[in-house]
Amino acid sequence: MTTPPVCPACLGGLAPPDLWSDRWRCESHGDVEPFHEARSSREQVLRNLGRTSQVPVWLPSPMPVHWFVSGVGWAGDERTGPHATAFAASGPSPVGGPAEMVLVAETPRVGLGSRLAGLVVPDPERLDEVPEAKIEAAGHPTALWPIAAPPDRAAFVGEALGVWLWCVLWPADAALLLLEHLVMEDLRDDPRLVDQLLFGAAGSHLSIR
Ligand SMILES: [Zn+2]
Repeated sequence: MTTPPVCPACLGGLAPPDLWSDRWRCESHGDVEPFHEARSSREQVLRNLGRTSQVPVWLPSPMPVHWFVSGVGWAGDERTGPHATAFAASGPSPVGGPAEMVLVAETPRVGLGSRLAGLVVPDPERLDEVPEAKIEAAGHPTALWPIAAPPDRAAFVGEALGVWLWCVLWPADAALLLLEHLVMEDLRDDPRLVDQLLFGAAGSHLSIR
């Protein structure tokens, strides 16, 4: 079960493909990759993404202690396959209180990661010279640059396996998680990673505007 697809960049409704175009169309953003969020059977959707996605399906491995999966989404149509994946996880913030983190892998111009980061452009425009965080992604050290995000969150972007890797955390001080040697694996490399995940209540950030 999934929701009707919406625009990855603005969550607005889309006009479906028709006789004249084989693309989904947003009034504001033109032709887009339709965004879907798994409402139920998030585990099954995740397993499907591991088989069909054109971009990585990042998840922390291991998950931070007491963290669970709080959302799964993707952007793309059945013809071309997912060109963006989003994995949301929730759990205790290192500084106390609840936190949520969304990891996005996407090809340029999809606009999913930048919407979550609070940007109005689909791709980061300029990155500072010095990255702020380093994680490990699919066995490679990966630099993440901070993005000027709204004050309720912290957002970072880097590049891994040839596409954008976004990491957005709520609240902003949950960014301390990135200092704890976060290791990410691509579910496409090892489908059994799903077996190690806990699935919990849906988070509130994957679909915020
Ligand atoms: Zn749009």
